[in-house]
Amino acid sequence: MKIIMLGAPGAGKGTQAKKIAQEFGIPHISTGDIFRENIKNNTQLGIKAKEYIDQGLLVPDELVMDLIIDRFKANDCKDGYVLDGFPRTIYQAEALDKKLKNKNESIDHVINIEVSDELIVRRMSGRRACLNCGRTYHIKTLKPKVEDICDYCNTKLVLRDDDKPETVKKRLQVYHEQTQPLIDYYNQKGLLRSMDGTKDIEVLYKEIMDFLKD
Ligand SMILES: [Zn+2]
Repeated sequence: MKIIMLGAPGAGKGTQAKKIAQEFGIPHISTGDIFRENIKNNTQLGIKAKEYIDQGLLVPDELVMDLIIDRFKANDCKDGYVLDGFPRTIYQAEALDKKLKNKNESIDHVINIEVSDELIVRRMSGRRACLNCGRTYHIKTLKPKVEDICDYCNTKLVLRDDDKPETVKKRLQVYHEQTQPLIDYYNQKGLLRSMDGTKDIEVLYKEIMDFLKD
């Protein structure tokens, strides 16, 4: 089972990707995790990627492909995977198709989690983060026991710059510019399934499972 998850930052695709991966016993592969892991382990690819990330630049397509292909070699990928944050460009999508085709394989499903920009901005601005231990909360849906204080380390919670409306709007704009061509690409291949990301996490998860197990 090879699945690609599409969805704007804050649409909840990571949460669904993790649950799907667990259900099928396949890895959840997020490019963010791969970057962090390679940088932490000082791999050659990681050192290269860090140069771009440190300058606030996007990691180039070729380097992303190298990192992904390296990850696919791991034994846990033999029965498939859930891709989260990859592919991000048509170049990456085509390179992935080519790579799979060489092994007589292909992507099975592309799930697009749809949430309006307005709702994402609202969701993100309710997030509160602990900069000490990295845990995140939400003022409505995931409240800490004591208002604005981390449950685990008693640090004061903050609204991260990343979650502020202006930053979120900018990221959404970039996301739409990059992703619309991908949506068209997978739609033409008959692989795309759009799902309503405004639904409750468990309700949406059940709908995704019904679809994948159909
Ligand atoms: Zn904390």
